[in-house]
Amino acid sequence: MKRYLLILAALMTVSTTTAAARNPRKTTRTARLEAAERTADSLRAVTARQAALIDSLQNLAAALDDELYTEESVTPQIDTRTPEEIAADSVADMRRRMERKEIHSTFETDDLAVIDTLSSGNDALYVVLFGDNSWKYVRNREVAKDSTIFEKYWDTKSLFPYSSVTKANIPESVVVTLVDSTSGFHYPYKGAVNPRGKFGLRRGRRHQGVDLPLKMRDTVYATFSGRVRISQSVRGYGNLIIIRHDNGLETYYGHLSERLVEPNQWVEAGEIIGLGGSTGRSTGPHLHFETRYYGQSFDPERLIDFKRGILNREVFLLKRSFLSIYSNAGQDFDDEEANEKQDKQEAAERAAMRYHKIRSGDTLGHLAVKYGTTVKKICALNGIKPTTILRIGRTLRVR
Ligand SMILES: [Zn+2]
Repeated sequence: MKRYLLILAALMTVSTTTAAARNPRKTTRTARLEAAERTADSLRAVTARQAALIDSLQNLAAALDDELYTEESVTPQIDTRTPEEIAADSVADMRRRMERKEIHSTFETDDLAVIDTLSSGNDALYVVLFGDNSWKYVRNREVAKDSTIFEKYWDTKSLFPYSSVTKANIPESVVVTLVDSTSGFHYPYKGAVNPRGKFGLRRGRRHQGVDLPLKMRDTVYATFSGRVRISQSVRGYGNLIIIRHDNGLETYYGHLSERLVEPNQWVEAGEIIGLGGSTGRSTGPHLHFETRYYGQSFDPERLIDFKRGILNREVFLLKRSFLSIYSNAGQDFDDEEANEKQDKQEAAERAAMRYHKIRSGDTLGHLAVKYGTTVKKICALNGIKPTTILRIGRTLRVR
C-alpha cells in the first residue's frame, strides 16, 4: 500500500511541474503571442469548415428542392383503366405490332469494327461501341440466357431434335416476336427469290425454303440474334448453318462456301455467319434459306421481302396452317434438282416452238413437209382437224 502512495506522489510531482511550464504567467511575451496566433488559426480553420458545411447543406437543400419539384412534375398518372380496357389496349398494341410495315436491317456490320464494350447499368445488357461512333445494346447472354429456348431440344449434331413434338402439339396459332428494342433484324441475303425456288409444292415436289441466287462468297447474315445450333457439312444442304432465335424460330442457311460460326456460339442479327456458295446438291451458287418452328418449315416470304431486304412486321402470328405437312424432315434436294431439270426441258421446248402465218395457197400437208412434222401433230398443237379450212392471216403453231 505504501508503495502505491509513493508512485501516486511521484506522478503528482510530474504533473505539477508540467502545469507550471504551461502556465502563461510563466512564459515570455513572444510565447504568449505565438499561442494567440495558434488559437486564431484553429478558429479560422473551424470557421472555414463551418462555411464549407453550410455550403454543402445549402446545395443539398437545393438538390432536394429540385428533386421534389421534378418528382411532382413527373408523378405518373394513376391508371384509371379497367382490367378490360387494359386488356383491350394491349390487344390493340399487339395488333399494331403485327401490322404490315417496312423494317429495314437494323445494323450493317460489313465495315464496322467494335471499339469497346461498356456496361449499361443493366446486367442483362451491355453497350457495344463501333468505329463509326454508332452503338447498340447487346444482350449479355450469360445473364439473359433462356433455358427453355436454348437448352430444351438443343442438339448441335442432329438437324431435327424435335421428334417428340408433332405438328398436332403445336398450337393453332403462336405469337412470335421478331424484333424489339434489344433484338434486331438483318436480311440473310438481299436478292430476288428464284421463281423456281419458292416455298411449297411444285409439280408435287416439296421445297422447304426459298432459293436466293447469289455470287460466290457473297456475305450471308444472321437474320435475328440467337445461338448457332448446327454448323456442319450435311448431305444435300452442303455447308449448313442453323441458328435458333430467342423467339424459338430457327433459320437455315444452306450451300455455303464457308461457315464462319461454330455450334453454341451466340450471334447478333446482322453478324456475318458465312459466305455464299454451291456446296451440297446445288446446280449453281445460291442460298437455300429456311424458317422453321419446332422443326416445321413455313414460307420465309411471310416474314421477309427478300428483294428489298426488309422485314414485314414486328410480331408475326404463326398459324399452324402455314406449316408444311412434309416439314418434319430435311429438304430433299433430289426434288430441287428434278424441278430444275424439268424447267430446263420446258424452256428448251418453248425455245423450239415455231409458228407460221397462213398465206394464200398454204395447206396443212405443205406445212408438215416444210417444218418436218406431220399433219396430225400440227392439228394436235392447234386443236384443229385435218379438214379445218385455213383462214389467211391465222397463225398456227407448227412445232
Ligand atoms: Zn432450295
